[in-house]
Amino acid sequence: MTQKIIKNSDGSLQVPDQPVIPFIEGDGIGPDIWRATRNVIDSAVETAYSGKKKIQWLETDAGEKGFERCGEWLPDKTLDTIREYVVAIKGPMTTPVGKGIRSLNVAIRQKLDLYACVRPVRYINAVPSPMKSPEKVNMVIFRENTEDLYAGIEWESGSEEVKTLITFLKEKMNTEVLPESGIGIKPISPQNTKRLVASAISYAIDRGYPSVTLMHKGNIMKFTEGAFAKWGYEAAKEQFGDKTLTETELYDKYNGKQPEGKVLIKDRIADMLFQQVLLRPDEYHVIATPNLNGDYLSDALAAQIGGLGMAPGANIGDECAVFEATHGTAPKYAGLDKVNPGSLILSGAMMLDYMGWNEAAERIRSGIAAAVQAGTVTYDLARQIKGSTEVKCSEFADAIIAQMKNI
Ligand code: NAD
Repeated sequence: MTQKIIKNSDGSLQVPDQPVIPFIEGDGIGPDIWRATRNVIDSAVETAYSGKKKIQWLETDAGEKGFERCGEWLPDKTLDTIREYVVAIKGPMTTPVGKGIRSLNVAIRQKLDLYACVRPVRYINAVPSPMKSPEKVNMVIFRENTEDLYAGIEWESGSEEVKTLITFLKEKMNTEVLPESGIGIKPISPQNTKRLVASAISYAIDRGYPSVTLMHKGNIMKFTEGAFAKWGYEAAKEQFGDKTLTETELYDKYNGKQPEGKVLIKDRIADMLFQQVLLRPDEYHVIATPNLNGDYLSDALAAQIGGLGMAPGANIGDECAVFEATHGTAPKYAGLDKVNPGSLILSGAMMLDYMGWNEAAERIRSGIAAAVQAGTVTYDLARQIKGSTEVKCSEFADAIIAQMKNI
């Protein structure tokens, strides 16, 4: 019997015991890490719920495999399937070069209006890290996914379009731009900012995070990044007035002592926040930010806790959510059963959390931590952990499964 996850009008999910979940295996190392991930997720669900719950996986095509099977890199049928089943998971996909497609990942985000790129960055004990106290890192980035300089509105130097724009700027806006320039446009809107910030605040409230930081470069880009911060504060007041407070209110009304049950909304200039997440990581929790800042910060923070091989991610919209590995297809390792499947496995755990299957998700996180602590790790970690044993991608999954059974 087909069982679908249903999204209620208030955003909550109805999850049957045997939900159908579409997956895109991905290209390059995708099949290796997907196989490992699927085994770990199935085992976690089986052991957490004593066989009462089970995912029915539904393969759906995109990327090279999609192109081979149906002549399209991102078939409409795949997008329809994801919309229909609400929750999906995907491996990395090759960006076709010179095929008129900027990036399949960006296309999926835009076509499904997955406006929040959510990246939890939490340290797993024993993973090698460049930080002195990596255990202080526990942040979740909400990066706006649909606009900013990534909206794809740009024109090449010398093109007719850019010449028209430069003439327009000169004649109508009294603004000089060097005629040889290329130009990109940075749209940031109140409605898209507010829905992103609202989802970050709701996440902080639901998970008990004490603060949401609005990261921006508004001291320079006042009407885009500055407006992002302003609209972010407005969203907090309008939608979560009784559950949030600003730093000014914290000091004026509460003498600097944060009251129980209220999330602190603060804002920080982007370059300063890059320093702060290194120097005082425990002062930052949920971070909401426009697209470009979020892209940089996500990878920088991932490095602080051991690199992209262990960083999970998801793209979430009002209609559906896609959980994904945060690294690329690493073509030179394709089919070698060698790379670290940790990113996709942890994204699988995020997916289970999103479905409300938290026991299974927690089991996966504990299982990974135990496997790393036991020193059974893939090459990328083995070369950094003294005395560890290098195992294959599939064997790392087996080690996690074995550890989960002891939990
Ligand atoms: P990449 O992330 O694929 O690989 C860079 C290097 O990182 C690899 O050579 C490898 O040394 C290491 N690495 C990556 N994943 C690893 C893992 N799981 N375990 C251990 N080491 C790992 O980046 P790239 O080489 O810039 O991109 C290759 C392709 O992937 C391109 O076509 C690019 O467009 C695409 N890409 C896709 C996504 C996505 O689907 N989300 C993201 C980034 C890049």
